[in-house]
Amino acid sequence: PRHVGETPEAVLHRVFGFESFRGLQESAVQAVMKGEDVLVLMPTGGGKSLCYQVPALCRKGVGLVISPLIALMEDQVAGLRQLGVRASALHSEMEYQDQQTVREDLLCDQLDLLYISPERLLTPYSLNLLRRCSLSLIAIDEAHCVSAWGHDFRPEYRELANLKQLFPRVPRIALTATADPRTRSDMLAALDMPQAHILMGSFHRSNLFLQAQPKHSETRQVLDALDRHMGQGAAIVYCGSRKKTETLARQLREKGHTAFAFHAGMSPADKKNVLLRFRSGEPMIVAATIAFGMGIDRPDVRTVIHLDMPTSPEGYYQQIGRAGRDGEPSHTLLLYSGEGVARARYWLEEAQVPEAEKRAMQGRLESMISLTETTGCRTQAILACFGETLHEPCGHCDNCLHPPSTFDATEAAQKVLST
Ligand code: ADP
Ligand code: MG
Repeated sequence: PRHVGETPEAVLHRVFGFESFRGLQESAVQAVMKGEDVLVLMPTGGGKSLCYQVPALCRKGVGLVISPLIALMEDQVAGLRQLGVRASALHSEMEYQDQQTVREDLLCDQLDLLYISPERLLTPYSLNLLRRCSLSLIAIDEAHCVSAWGHDFRPEYRELANLKQLFPRVPRIALTATADPRTRSDMLAALDMPQAHILMGSFHRSNLFLQAQPKHSETRQVLDALDRHMGQGAAIVYCGSRKKTETLARQLREKGHTAFAFHAGMSPADKKNVLLRFRSGEPMIVAATIAFGMGIDRPDVRTVIHLDMPTSPEGYYQQIGRAGRDGEPSHTLLLYSGEGVARARYWLEEAQVPEAEKRAMQGRLESMISLTETTGCRTQAILACFGETLHEPCGHCDNCLHPPSTFDATEAAQKVLST
């Protein structure tokens, strides 16, 4: 490829147009350049992609990127091509002829980066093909999908353990925004990367204002939060069911907002339409299930609201992490109810999953409940879930701004006085 031999800094400037590396990017790039295996833990929006894109361009051969979602791959490929990078994707939804073209490019050394789904990668056909190419690196994006302990397990990721034996001399870089210690060690084991360099960035996002509120009249609470915080940007309201996304979107439209539902039960065309409008930059609200997730990368999401409690702190943090990617102050609101907590516990108790997995899920749910009920700094509490210590309270979450002990006492006193 055209950039081989250039320094990572030169590629960063010339291809990507950025001034300097951010946070741990430079260390990650250097480790891969030396041929080491790396695990990169950075929050959503932290800039994980450059950690493999830059070394893939500087090293000889094609960089293989394993990604769990087709939409995600296509976005990345489109963005890279705009920058003049020779990127392609290979996945099952492509026409046979297009797949053939990619394979030919690959064999003629015409690609810098190849995005591929795990199931496509691990076919004998693809492996044969790839063994005839020179690989600069293998990146495993959203690497937490390999862990049954994680919140987003994908069985096809399990097979990626074989990569070490299949391509012993190719450096591997695993990337994720999920950093709880249990998932982390499970990832390293499941990917057969015991010696990997672990690079963990801070998960602190100082522009996110965290708030949680008991749910009393959810639509009003949502409208109120949107009025205050959405501005000219976008908002995401996460709902616990598909049906709820549709009713809420309708209610918001009746109030004059531009609002859409998004969930996995919608047709591909309808989903695509919502994604296109969302990316267009117009002010809008998406009422969504967690299917609206990975790869959602609009910079000006001003508020993320949870109508129902998420099932894990990791999921919660990834979802609110979609707010404020431009670094501007952004607001998040979590609505909860005793009934919702009871329902989540009951649902898990009844879930048909292996016992060990169920216990892990219950553990994450209970952490999420404690997080919701905490009276201390919410930012400190969520970071503690990832093993990170924030030494001072953040000063701008609801509990920092309105310490609940005094608040509760006043409310209780008022109740007594008014009866
Ligand atoms: P992640 O995969 O960690 O969620 P991305 O790789 O998608 O994050 O990057 C998030 C945003 O940050 C992108 O818009 C990207 O262009 C931008 N970005 C990443 N690294 C830098 C950098 N060094 N300088 C400026 N912007 C950056
Ligand atoms: Mg990413």
